Amino acid sequence: MKKTALYVRQSLEKDKQKMSIDMQKSVCIEWADKNGYQISKVYQDYNVSGLKTKIEDRNGLSELLRDIEGGFVENVIVYKRDRLARDVQQYLEIYERFKDEKVHIHFTADNEPPLFQGPVGELLELVISGVAQYEGENINKKLIDSRIAKVKMSVDNKKIYWGGGTLPFGFVSKDGVLQHINDEAVEKIRCVFETFSRGVLADEGNISIPIPSLTEAAKHLRFKDASQVESIVKNRIHTGYVVQRIGKFTAEHFFKDFRVVDEETFQRAQEIYNSFKRGKVSRKSPPIITCEFICEECHSPMAFKKDNQMYRCENKPRAHKTHQNDLENAVRNQVLSYLVKLLKVNKRYVHKELAKLLSNEMDSKIDTYKKEREEKVSELKRYVEWDIKRKKPFRKVDLNKTYRIVSMCEKRFNVLLKEKKKIKKWIDKHSIDLTSVESLPMKVQEKAFDHIATVTFSPKSGIKCIFINHNYSDGEEIG
Ligand SMILES: [Zn+2]
Repeated sequence: MKKTALYVRQSLEKDKQKMSIDMQKSVCIEWADKNGYQISKVYQDYNVSGLKTKIEDRNGLSELLRDIEGGFVENVIVYKRDRLARDVQQYLEIYERFKDEKVHIHFTADNEPPLFQGPVGELLELVISGVAQYEGENINKKLIDSRIAKVKMSVDNKKIYWGGGTLPFGFVSKDGVLQHINDEAVEKIRCVFETFSRGVLADEGNISIPIPSLTEAAKHLRFKDASQVESIVKNRIHTGYVVQRIGKFTAEHFFKDFRVVDEETFQRAQEIYNSFKRGKVSRKSPPIITCEFICEECHSPMAFKKDNQMYRCENKPRAHKTHQNDLENAVRNQVLSYLVKLLKVNKRYVHKELAKLLSNEMDSKIDTYKKEREEKVSELKRYVEWDIKRKKPFRKVDLNKTYRIVSMCEKRFNVLLKEKKKIKKWIDKHSIDLTSVESLPMKVQEKAFDHIATVTFSPKSGIKCIFINHNYSDGEEIG
């Protein structure tokens, strides 16, 4: 007969652990009694880390797995997930081996969600929030293709088609064809280049003043701010070359009518313009790691120093430090590959739940429109019946108005039905794609950081471990 097993584990640092073996046992036995399970064997691991120790070095767990694979075990009772493993890779391996033998796992700790509910439930949120964007990206791709096709119709010195985006200063797009707005705009462009190629603000009294600053130059040239001037000075379109970049596609066309300045003047303007730009501080990004971030050696917090983009240990800031980019990239990679692992293991479940949630959402929308449509139809009926009763001709105005509303409802209703079909198709097609880091929608990737609870940094080997926040209390260690 198949039996019910109890597995308990206590880690190395006894005093830090709230979860003594005895406590785990008593909670699990109580749970088994209450739920009608009879425990036939207890498997235990003392002084074993759930993070560092390999499965084969954990005697209790190895024995349990052997018995499971021998077909002797039907149920396993465990206090919490992290008793099985704290390392994701290991947890997933154990999980797979349990699943292969169709073993039921029961977690007994309060707040510990049953299998599937925890990480997956949370992930679903992530995935679903990314779906809308994913769809958007597909539509975007089509738009980009049509923009590129338009640009490709351009003919040098004849017609330049504008592929979209912000128009260069002084230009309009008429039926998609690029042209100067008017002579006044062209004159303004000429003035900008004259000023910058000479490096002086030409005065009315013909007294030349060297350009004091970009802002002053912009003011003198009657622009709102320096960025407008910058967009003119840097744009080669004013030498006649139209460069259009759409995604990875680049096209260059030439149209002599667009030429306001010659190549030499353009280059001189660049040099002078750049001399003003130089020395400007490059933009620094704010720190992403806003959760608890600890130096493993000193147990003190790592603080972010804005001046040189470093995270530094508060105890030994000179020795224990890491650059923002290095650290954040490493953390990002770990978190994302963790998400992907979870998605892979729970693929079918995630897919099913995702489909269910999306179609529920659609159904409730469709219901609303259905009701609206029915209401309007009966309203229309009432009008007609009322007029028949009164033996009067129908009032055309009211009839037309109601007809319009009904047909609008009808249209919306049909659009939704189509959309529902589209979403279903999308899910069927894309579920598998969600299992690599690159294919995770951007929104999911960004949101991944919200799920980090703690990061530990080792001065010797970089990031030590990241705790992912789950619904349950103490999180899961992932690296
Ligand atoms: Zn330190």
